[in-house]
Amino acid sequence: MAEAVIFLGPPGAGKGTQAKRLAADLGFRQLSTGEILRSHVARGTELGRLAKPLMDAGKLVPDEIILGIIGEELAAMPNPRVIFDGFPRTLAQAEALDRLLAERQIRLLGVLLVTAPEEELIRRLLGRAQQEGRSDDNEETIRARMVEYRQKTQPLVDYYARTGSLKEINGLGQVEEVYQAIQAALGLRA
Ligand code: AMP
Repeated sequence: MAEAVIFLGPPGAGKGTQAKRLAADLGFRQLSTGEILRSHVARGTELGRLAKPLMDAGKLVPDEIILGIIGEELAAMPNPRVIFDGFPRTLAQAEALDRLLAERQIRLLGVLLVTAPEEELIRRLLGRAQQEGRSDDNEETIRARMVEYRQKTQPLVDYYARTGSLKEINGLGQVEEVYQAIQAALGLRA
C-alpha cells in the first residue's frame, strides 16, 4: 500500500538522521528536498544555480521549484512509500502535498514534529559545520534559517494538529532515544 511519513521541525532537530534510519527500517524511500537541492548545486544544474544563493542566505527556495521536484520524484514511483524529510515547509507546499496524497491514494502514517530548544539547535548546526562543511551551516545563515522556520514552516504545526496526524517528538535526547520515541509514535513498537 502507498504510505508516507512527514518529518517536520526546525533545522538541527535531527530530522535527516532519524528519517534515514526510519526509511531503512521500513523499506521506504527518504525524500529530502534539501539533499536533492544540494545535489543540483554540486552538479551545477540550472536549478542548482538558482537555488544556491537562496540556500546560502538561509532562505527557502520557491514553492514551484520544490513542488516540481516532489512531483517528479513521486511520478517515478509506481507505489510510493516515502519519508518526506524537510518537505513541506510552507502552507502552499502542505496543501499541494495533500492533493498529491489524495490523487495517488497515499496514506499518511503521521507527521513527526521533532523539536529542541533553539540554542541546542544552533550548537548542533555549528558542530555540523565543522564536520560536514555545509555552506549554509554558518552562524548568520543558521539564524536566517531559524527565522524562515518560525515564519513559514511553524504554521504547519497547527495545520497538521487540526487533521490529527501530528506527533510531537522530543529531539533533545540521544539519537537512539529519539528513534524509539518515533517508533512508538508511529505504533511500530509496543
Ligand atoms: P535542509 O537540508 O532541509 O536543511 O534544506 C537546506 C536548504 O534547502 C533550506 O535552507 C532551503 O534553502 C532549501 N530547502 C530544502 N527544502 C525546502 C523546501 N521544502 N522548501 C523550500 N526550501 C527548501
